[in-house]
Amino acid sequence: MTGTWLRTALLLGLLGTAAAASADAETIVLRGGSLYASPDAALLPDAVIVMTDGVISAVGKSGDVNVPADARVIDCSGKTVVAGFWNSHVHFTEGAWHNAATAPAAPLTGHMQEMLTRWGFTTVWDLGSDPQDTLPLRKRIAAGEVAGPRILMAGSIFPKDGHPAYLPAAMQLPEATTPDEATQLARGYMALNLDGVKLFTGVYKGGKPVVNMDPAIARAAVDVAHAAAKPVFAHPQNQVGVDTVIAAGVDILAHSNPTEGGYTTEQLARLKAQGTALIPTLSLYTTVVLIPDVTNRLVAAAVNELKQFSENGGPILFGTDVGFIKLYDTTLEYELMHRALSERQVLASLTSNPAQYFKAARNGRVEQGFDADLVVLDGDPLSDVRNLAKVSTTIRAGHVIYQKP
Ligand SMILES: [Zn+2]
Repeated sequence: MTGTWLRTALLLGLLGTAAAASADAETIVLRGGSLYASPDAALLPDAVIVMTDGVISAVGKSGDVNVPADARVIDCSGKTVVAGFWNSHVHFTEGAWHNAATAPAAPLTGHMQEMLTRWGFTTVWDLGSDPQDTLPLRKRIAAGEVAGPRILMAGSIFPKDGHPAYLPAAMQLPEATTPDEATQLARGYMALNLDGVKLFTGVYKGGKPVVNMDPAIARAAVDVAHAAAKPVFAHPQNQVGVDTVIAAGVDILAHSNPTEGGYTTEQLARLKAQGTALIPTLSLYTTVVLIPDVTNRLVAAAVNELKQFSENGGPILFGTDVGFIKLYDTTLEYELMHRALSERQVLASLTSNPAQYFKAARNGRVEQGFDADLVVLDGDPLSDVRNLAKVSTTIRAGHVIYQKP
């Protein structure tokens, strides 16, 4: 039952997280931009943000904040500064990441830029890839060798006969046939020090019926992850898959579910009571079918679910499934989300919501003592949501990981 993803990582001995921070303690100052310290904050014009040792050491109006003489100052006049973005649904499965342990750093940084850092991402959740590539990749990022976001990683568990139609048939996937097998798989992921688990509570099988995971199997994996204080994501696929999420106490819906007419009143009540979060992945539905009418219906249904979920009070986490989809540009996702949410709500899904949901207490806002994870935008995202995709500079842990040429 144990798939290659897990075995290879165990063989490589990739246990433990790479904690090494970059040694160079440069002080970076952003000066002259307008600042939204949080999604609900008023705009602070002519702001100064000082970052030292990976932390925001001072924030305030120009003139009120002391700028150290040796600091590297980035002029942000005419630009808008917000907290670093989270993409809570990505995959490091493209060919560019193969052999990430030994591949030269420059092309890895280059592809990271194309896919993630030029769109402002400072933290991402990988919801399924080969740990043999992804664990060394995140280690090299943490060491400052490759410029990229902080990577959190969930280990996948599929139901019996649950090989998705869209994944290569030759790919070995970890399937759990019994609750005990789910327990063992989840324990294996915890031993690898992964950050969470992803369950396929429903699997797309092409022309054949959806295969759902038994709730007792899902519950067994959830119990292991929760005992380690780690979150569980699920790919639901259909209403039964959503009901399994509810029955098993899964934390996050990794997709909306646009083929089945929206969440029922009963589902919404349970999802709210359990504090379940939703990653809408709206632009994904523009890539799966090539018939415009069908695509428009799928997207409208997914937007409607996002609206239902948000009005129900559930936390929304930004995520695109990038890596699985080739659409790197986030503009469309923002436009589609804005059909259901305000600009401030979209910004929250990128910053304060994931920080709060994933208990990153000093992330997701631009405040003294918080992580120096910041995005400088060319335009004000509250006057036009598409400005969230117009990134000028991305800073993670006080280091510039992307600078627009
Ligand atoms: Zn995905």
